[in-house]
Amino acid sequence: MREFGYERAHDVAGAVALLGADPEARYLGGGTNLVDLMKSGVERPALLVDVRELPLDGIEVTADGGLRVGATVTNSDLAAHPEVRRRYPALTQAVLAGASGQLRNMATVGGNLLQRTRCGYFTDTARSCNKRVPGSGCSAHDGEHHNHAILGASAHCVATHPSDMAVALAAFDAVISYETADGPGETPLADFYLPVGDTPHRETALPPGALITGITLPPAPVAAHSRYRKVRERASYAFAIGSIAAALDVEDGVVRDVRLAYGAVASRPWRARAAEAALTGGPATATAFAAAADAELAAAEPLSDNGYKVPLLRNLTVALLSELTEATEGAAR
Ligand SMILES: Cc1cc2nc3c(=O)[nH]c(=O)nc-3n(C[C@H](O)[C@H](O)[C@H](O)COP(=O)(O)OP(=O)(O)OC[C@H]3O[C@@H](n4cnc5c(N)ncnc54)[C@H](O)[C@@H]3O)c2cc1C
Ligand code: SF4
Repeated sequence: MREFGYERAHDVAGAVALLGADPEARYLGGGTNLVDLMKSGVERPALLVDVRELPLDGIEVTADGGLRVGATVTNSDLAAHPEVRRRYPALTQAVLAGASGQLRNMATVGGNLLQRTRCGYFTDTARSCNKRVPGSGCSAHDGEHHNHAILGASAHCVATHPSDMAVALAAFDAVISYETADGPGETPLADFYLPVGDTPHRETALPPGALITGITLPPAPVAAHSRYRKVRERASYAFAIGSIAAALDVEDGVVRDVRLAYGAVASRPWRARAAEAALTGGPATATAFAAAADAELAAAEPLSDNGYKVPLLRNLTVALLSELTEATEGAAR
């Protein structure tokens, strides 16, 4: 492991200045991903700028009834917050489905969004990987890829984004706020993760040196009727092989509003807009849910060993939307 410096930032401007002064510096959140990558030699920063003491650890209801979450809020505090549980229950469920209690106590919102892929070739510095070394090739494409992407990938990279939390945030139209030396900015989560194309090493739209300061969830009454479901190869402490965040509002058997996002299928959380469009205003039936999933997954391009994800996501869609229909109609009776 390369020797590195450590600085603890106490205010946002100071953190941005510290990072700007050293092109080889990185922000340090809980360190649960970055430190692992430093140990394996994938990341070799010269300086870590610890952001955990910044005044970005609040969760507050916004004037319009949405939620503002600071970047250094831990995953545990996010999941446990009463307003998150009440207004966006799928977000609580998604966070609790990830990692372990100890890791969630350390991991921050900002770090969770920026955690790197779990593709085994990315973390193995002896193997070719376009994301780690641009132009070196993709070992996964013709190698071990059973948990790789089926949507939005390219021949240059077929890795998935590992975050559970980000899947729920995608369903609820989260907006990411950040600070740079030139001032603050924000980006909708929908535009935050860049298309893979031939530049898989460029992962987000964050300007160089930008510090994530928080996320804002716009008000969404439908989100109160939401759930997250994750399929994994072990019962706990494992990343998803497929997941879904869904929110549904049904009245008299008709879908009034629906939010749907998939995880572990693409290089970013995948908002299922084709499925949402197919469902809105139509019947809340298992047949309609299956047809909507088919509409979304028509764009899937599975590799030789991950085709199982197509029926997996289809079944998850039908099961979770059926459960939500039952729960909403049961509550209305
Ligand atoms: C064994 C294990 C199992 C796991 N299982 C799951 C799982 O099932 N589901 C899941 O979603 N996750 C899982 N994780 C991943 C875990 O959620 C992430 O490691 C964690 O969320 C990262 O947060 P952090 O604060 O520790 O980030 P760090 O490791 O500190 O940082 C990650 C990246 O974000 C950058 N960064 C941090 N904060 C900021 C900021 N404010 N602004 C700009 N850049 C910033 C860092 O520079 C770094 O590049 C697992 C991790 C482990 C080790
Ligand atoms: S899928 Fe992406 S991260 Fe994995 S080896 Fe290929 S280029 Fe690297």
